[in-house]
Amino acid sequence: MENEVAPPGVNINVPHSARIYDYWLGGKDNFAVDRAVGDAMIKAIPGMRYMAGENRKFVHRAARNLVEVEGIRQFLDIGTGIPTRPNLHEIAQRIVPAARVVYVDNDPIVLVHARALMISTEQGRSEYISGDIRDPESILQDKTLRDTLDFSEPIGLTLIAILMLIADADDPWSSVAALRDAMPSGSCLAITHPTADFAPGEVAEAVAAATGAGMTLVARTREAVERLFGDWELLEPGLVPVSSWRPDEPVDDPKAAYYWAGVARKP
Ligand code: SAH
Repeated sequence: MENEVAPPGVNINVPHSARIYDYWLGGKDNFAVDRAVGDAMIKAIPGMRYMAGENRKFVHRAARNLVEVEGIRQFLDIGTGIPTRPNLHEIAQRIVPAARVVYVDNDPIVLVHARALMISTEQGRSEYISGDIRDPESILQDKTLRDTLDFSEPIGLTLIAILMLIADADDPWSSVAALRDAMPSGSCLAITHPTADFAPGEVAEAVAAATGAGMTLVARTREAVERLFGDWELLEPGLVPVSSWRPDEPVDDPKAAYYWAGVARKP
């Protein structure tokens, strides 16, 4: 598209996951290069927008369950993305106004929108830090994070639709293990991850469209996703297609959204 103006630090010649996802969800913070790849992926997977929506709905259900059922009062959300209402802290603070959230992303466009992520209730707190999940130690040592989260109380760690952007060579399992190890007992880990398990042909084509445009995108098997939880105990109903995780209403075809989803608790 002509006349596109990018905020500082944002490269609009290379497609980016946060902006493609924003495009699928109907947002406005995306550029021609993102829409081109986003459309190629929709061509491969006609249900792509539905999948993105199901992934967001999981965020709502998981956050509600973590607060209401598991008693979680503070969250660390890595791979936040461009703000999408309701954001995680808004969901949690509706139930418990004093809930606290630290958001982490490594994309400059998310930083541009970070103010929207930091509008918290008076009782609670919501912060944004720039960080890379491939360097978990620097996230964990961040001063704002340490000031916001209390590591003597359970934390809800949410890794929603981010780990497919980390190549096997960058060992997402070890990054997630470092994060798990830092969490106190009673903490919970929520993950969604795209998979080729339900529709190998469509997903292979979508992945090819993304990698052909220079992105890293890895669909993973159920077994590979399950290993991300380490020895934490998967809560009911286990690692399931994203639409089937504690659904609010009956789901017609749970495998129509090609994501595995689960929540586990640290013993
Ligand atoms: N979690 C949100 C957004 C998912 S889009 C949701 O599910 O609604 C994936 C996000 O992960 C993007 O915002 C992207 O910038 C971020 N991301 C990608 N690689 C990352 C990395 N190495 N470290 C931190 N964030 C990363």
